[in-house]
Amino acid sequence: FTIPKPYNEPVLSYAPGTPERKALKAALAEARSKQLDIPMYIGGEKVFTEKKSSLRPPHDHQHILGHFSQGTKDHVKQAIDAALKAKAQWENLAWEHRASIFLKAADLLAGPYRAKINAATMLGQSKSAYQAEIDSACELIDFLRFNVSYMTEIYSQQVDSAKGIWNRIEQRPLEGFVFALTPFNFTAIAGNLPTSVAMMGNVVVWKPANTQIYAANVIMEVLREAGLPDGVINLVYVSGPDAGDVIFKHPDFAGIHFTGSTEVFQNIWKEIGNNIHLFKTYPRIVGETGGKDFVVVHPSADVKASAVALVRGAFEYQGQKCSAASRAYVAKSIWPDIKKLMQEDIASFKIGGTEDFENFFNAVIDEKSFDKLAKYIDNAKNDSSVEIIAGGAYDKSKGYFINPTVIETKDPKYVTMCEELFGPVLTVYVYEDAKFEETLDIVDQTSIYALTGAVLSQDRYAIELASRKLRNAAGNFYINDKPTGAVVGQQPFGGARGSGTNDKAGSMINLLRWVSPRTIKETF
Ligand code: NAD
Repeated sequence: FTIPKPYNEPVLSYAPGTPERKALKAALAEARSKQLDIPMYIGGEKVFTEKKSSLRPPHDHQHILGHFSQGTKDHVKQAIDAALKAKAQWENLAWEHRASIFLKAADLLAGPYRAKINAATMLGQSKSAYQAEIDSACELIDFLRFNVSYMTEIYSQQVDSAKGIWNRIEQRPLEGFVFALTPFNFTAIAGNLPTSVAMMGNVVVWKPANTQIYAANVIMEVLREAGLPDGVINLVYVSGPDAGDVIFKHPDFAGIHFTGSTEVFQNIWKEIGNNIHLFKTYPRIVGETGGKDFVVVHPSADVKASAVALVRGAFEYQGQKCSAASRAYVAKSIWPDIKKLMQEDIASFKIGGTEDFENFFNAVIDEKSFDKLAKYIDNAKNDSSVEIIAGGAYDKSKGYFINPTVIETKDPKYVTMCEELFGPVLTVYVYEDAKFEETLDIVDQTSIYALTGAVLSQDRYAIELASRKLRNAAGNFYINDKPTGAVVGQQPFGGARGSGTNDKAGSMINLLRWVSPRTIKETF
């Protein structure tokens, strides 16, 4: 068989008068008018519990969108049992039948479910219509389509044989179940982590972040409608530690597909290490974690392009992209011009709820994140060695709004140049033009992370130098662009150092982690 050639889902504009805008407005109004009652999914059954938690839009926290059922450790055990029960049938299903389910899911998201999943992402995670479209519609669809094509390539790869010998490679699913643990900030990632694993014949227990449950539930609806059999992916809403307590002690635990913070991943890794003797097989540990993503602006850079890269890179989706620019190193000679353009651009941002499509900038995810960001901003306000050159205001009376904030520092090791804040705060260090090379060393050495980074320059020698000196400082490196916006099938995504195992989401490298090859030699 050959499967349809994958292509990137076109981004719809949502301009006034377009049918997609009308459909999305209707989906938002419908979601606002009713109360959700969101179940877990275990063994294909919807599971409701007595204990409920409310879901509220981060930009309007007094409004209750509905509730989700909270599970316990028992539900995690049931999810594992359901997964293991589904395993034999699922892993023996020929790959083209598995492929068909995920291709259908992509088409459902591209068509009848597009408005619903975008509305869920806009209301649940406070993404603007455009940010929701490129995430929960386009990127998730791309993950499904491209991963299916990589899957088929993996199954078709073979080894050489010799006279009288037939050698084969059999790509077996992992022996056990896989745990998918997903973050709040991308619906596409939440969908990709369990589906990429299941595609390769594995069964999955999936736990999303609480602040992402609304969209996760829509993904599950889509997968069910696409024909995903019972028990292949089981969706539970439990606390991370409760899930970990059961999963990381289970003999059939065969792997974790994680995206989230570095701290949580490191603790998980330790726990898995401590229990390693309990598992039948060494679990696959795949994690995409934090970032402190940089932008280096050389004296030769285009001023306007640099200002755009800094502002867009730092503030789209309120800086809550793992790839968001959060530390910048700008040459002194062009900084005044870049600064002016950035200040003008930021001042023009419309800030508010996501349902008003004019708002470019919305709320941060929750109160914990708001409080953390407000504290860093207050510290900067009280520190005479730094200057806040844009933003600095915050307000949580209606929603968790932190204004886009730029801090200028004379210390390249200032706290906000090093730590991940995961919000709309960009810190800029202005360097002497002659010290470009020394600055690159600082960029490389001042952060534990290595996810994304960018250099802007019109000088090829400077680009080459930055590319070479920052070789290990970013898994995704951009030349003359912002460091965000990786496209599936074009820029496989992931970082090393404290940013993850660099198994490149949306690539064959990632899918290969979810199979365990068997080499077969037959002699005639
Ligand atoms: P998080 O680490 O707080 O949560 C991730 C998941 O782990 C959630 O489902 C959460 O409920 C769960 N969890 C939390 N504590 C746990 C525990 N003790 N045991 C088991 N599970 C636990 O991350 P987040 O706030 O949802 O997402 C933001 C983070 O994700 C940022 O650090 C960001 O850089 C990172 N991120 C990285 C990438 C990447 O590709 N590298 C992509 C997106 C997000």
